[in-house]
Amino acid sequence: MKVIILGCATSTGVPIIGCTCPICTSENSKNKRTRCSLYVETRGKNILIDTSTDLRFQALRHGITKLDAVLYTHSHADHTHGIDELRTYNFMNRMVIPCYGNSQTLTNIESNFKYIFDGVRSAGGKPNLEINVINGEFNIGGVTVMPVEIYHADWMIYGYRIGNMAYLTDCSGIPEDSIDKLRGLELLIISALRYRPHEAHLNVEEAVHTVTKLKPGLAVFTHMGHELDYDKLLGELPDGIVPAYDGMEVELGE
Ligand SMILES: [Zn+2]
Ligand SMILES: [Zn+2]
Ligand SMILES: [Zn+2]
Repeated sequence: MKVIILGCATSTGVPIIGCTCPICTSENSKNKRTRCSLYVETRGKNILIDTSTDLRFQALRHGITKLDAVLYTHSHADHTHGIDELRTYNFMNRMVIPCYGNSQTLTNIESNFKYIFDGVRSAGGKPNLEINVINGEFNIGGVTVMPVEIYHADWMIYGYRIGNMAYLTDCSGIPEDSIDKLRGLELLIISALRYRPHEAHLNVEEAVHTVTKLKPGLAVFTHMGHELDYDKLLGELPDGIVPAYDGMEVELGE
C-alpha cells in the first residue's frame, strides 16, 4: 500500500493569504501546505480521501490519472471544494465515480453542490458521481474500508481505516466505541491544528496524548495551521510521531 499526503493544511492553507508571520513567510518548503487530503494506492485501486480545494494542483503534482473511489470525511469546504475536478476523471477513466460517506456528509454535499445532483444536463458538463451512504465496513473492488466515527466539535464525522493505516482528520475526540477499530495500526495520520486548544480540532498536546493511547507504529500529524513550524515541531514531538508535509509518501504492507 502506498499512501501520499496530498495536503496537510488547515482550511486556510499555509501560507494564509496576506499573513506575514514567520511560518507563512518561511523559505522551508515543508511549511507550504495545501488543503488536507489523502491518496491511497492498494491492491490495484486508487482511492482519494476528500476532494480538497487544492485537488487540481495536488493531482497534477503527483500525476494521479485514475481514481476508483472517493471517501468523504465530512462536508466542510476545505475537504469538498475540489469536487468539480472529478469531472476530469469521469472523462479520463470513462466511469462514474463512486463517493462514500455518512448520511450527514453526503446530504450536505448534495445540497452544497446542487448543480451536480439536480439531474439537469449542463452544457459545461459536471461531475458524474454515485453517492453511497455507508454505515459500516465496505468493499471497493477487493479493498476493505472501515469507517471510524470521530468527533469534530458537535458533528460525528468519519475517519477511515484501510488495512493497517487510519486517517483521522478534523478530529476533536474519539468515542470509546471507535478506539477498538484503531488497534494494531502501522500508520496513523491524525490532525493536530495548533498549540492552543480549539473546539473542533485536537491541538498538538491532545493529538500526542491520543497517539500515546493508540500506539501505532508511526503517527503523522496533519491539518496543521500557521502556528506550526515543521522543523520546530519535528524537534518537539516524541519518537514515532512526525509532522506531515505536502507530498509525504509512506509505503506499507498490504
Ligand atoms: Zn478541515
Ligand atoms: Zn501566518
Ligand atoms: Zn472540518
